[in-house]
Amino acid sequence: MADTNFDVIVIGAGPGGYVAAIRAAQLGLKTACVESRETLGGTCLNVGCIPSKALLHASELFEEANHGVLAKWGVKTSGVELDLGAMHAGRQEAIKGLTGGIEFLFKKNKVEWLKGHAKFTGANSIDVAGASYTAKNFIIATGSSVTPLPGVEIDQERIVDSTGALELGEVPEHLVVIGGGVIGLELGSVWRRLGAQVTVVEFLDQILPGMDGDVRKEANKIFKKQGFAYRLGTKVTKAEKNGAGVTLTVEPAKGGAAETIEASHVLVSIGRRPNTDGLDLEKAGVKVNNRGQIEVDHDFRTGVSGIYAIGDVTPGPMLAHKAEDEGIACAEVIAGQIGIVNHDVIPSVVYTMPEIAGVGLTEEDAKAKYGDVKVGKFPMLGNSRAKTNREPDGFVKVIADAKSDRVLGVWMVASVAGTMIGQAAQAMEFGATSEDIAYTCHAHPTHSEALKEAAMAVNGKPIHV
Ligand code: FAD
Ligand code: NAD
Repeated sequence: MADTNFDVIVIGAGPGGYVAAIRAAQLGLKTACVESRETLGGTCLNVGCIPSKALLHASELFEEANHGVLAKWGVKTSGVELDLGAMHAGRQEAIKGLTGGIEFLFKKNKVEWLKGHAKFTGANSIDVAGASYTAKNFIIATGSSVTPLPGVEIDQERIVDSTGALELGEVPEHLVVIGGGVIGLELGSVWRRLGAQVTVVEFLDQILPGMDGDVRKEANKIFKKQGFAYRLGTKVTKAEKNGAGVTLTVEPAKGGAAETIEASHVLVSIGRRPNTDGLDLEKAGVKVNNRGQIEVDHDFRTGVSGIYAIGDVTPGPMLAHKAEDEGIACAEVIAGQIGIVNHDVIPSVVYTMPEIAGVGLTEEDAKAKYGDVKVGKFPMLGNSRAKTNREPDGFVKVIADAKSDRVLGVWMVASVAGTMIGQAAQAMEFGATSEDIAYTCHAHPTHSEALKEAAMAVNGKPIHV
């Protein structure tokens, strides 16, 4: 059994772990990365961001062809058919290309892939598939898994989690989504576009918790128009499989009479929880909080010397780009440099049509924190490019501090909001005021002009409304 010494061993090769490993190797540290999956890239590349975006893209093309959008632009199609097998093949091709790409980058940067499940045997040693490895530093980047719902057993056929929902071999007749968050709305959109009736059962009284209130309301309206049905303020207490599908028992979240909903398929998407089971953290002395997360300081230190943690296994939004940025900064800290992540400016995007995006504080949180705020809003209907493209839904909203005019948050619902939010994040990172954005020249005709106009609206002077 070989004892191998490394400067850094990263546990987990998701966007946090693989990026940390590459950065550490680039900085001259002898680095290994442990991954128990057969391919690198973690949740994001294998069963998360990438496969879901492949299906979102493909299903959008199908809907455009099938529901007359192309015909409205003079592109006539006939006999549009769904080849679900080919669509899944496209998803798998995207995964294969990108996970293989990480393997190539590991080889290029001389990161050693230790294949298997890692568990600590001490504060500076781990066991992987029966072999012992020591390192000066460990980065725990083990990510997260689906939160189970008591009474609703996932079988990945009729009752699925996000991984099962990405692989369904038929279009559900009636998909009931438990949880009106990001996964429920993205994967619900995929199957609705392909022909499923979709009902979202959400515990709270509105979808997309954590997002700006106006955005949540607008999104609710748009998805309803697209055909989503909602059961808000409702909880699922039981799921029973029957021959044709699943009978769900639901009741009001605040208590009340139970009733049943018949579904052909059920998607459980009520959140994710950190992966710390089976790591034998106690042998290293690393503690978890009451949500199972590993708490870290500003430098990603766990409190045990030489052990760091990043990504979904730590508190904060469970997002790939947050994990990646933490991976880079953590490797830089270990190499003796200054690694920083500004956790106040982490954008989030829901990749539906239209997309929904935000960065910084919601209006509600900005008011609670700063008291006096100014808000500028601009409808996409007033944006020439969106109007020309017949994408009238949505708006951009800029929230600024009333005294300093510094931008505190930007929220938007727009077809390309995921791309537009990058500019807002950069502006906020540079400490921009709403006036800075308003007086920045934006190319015409672009959707981004809506951000400029929303910034102009902060001081009451938009042009196109
Ligand atoms: P992970 O990506 O979860 O990777 C952790 C890795 O560690 C896994 O490969 C696991 O096998 C491995 N591992 C765990 N324990 C051990 C061990 N003991 N030994 C060895 N290996 C171990 N985020 C976005 O920003 N944008 C999106 O569009 C997006 N879409 C998503 C869609 C879906 C359906 C899902 C489920 C998630 C999505 N996310 C998205 C969230 C994103 O995938 C995660 O935030 C991100 O993957 C977290 O990265 P990570 O490196 O912390 O962990
Ligand atoms: P989520 O936290 O986004 O949404 C879960 C929803 O389920 C919430 O609205 C919550 O109120 C509801 N809920 C909780 N318990 C419930 C119950 N018993 N009955 C009914 N509703 C209940 O979680 P998710 O959609 O599962 O996504 C998990 C994580 O993955 C998120 O943190 C997200 O950041 C990440 N993700 C990101 C993207 C993206 O960036 N585009 C895409 C997919 C997933």
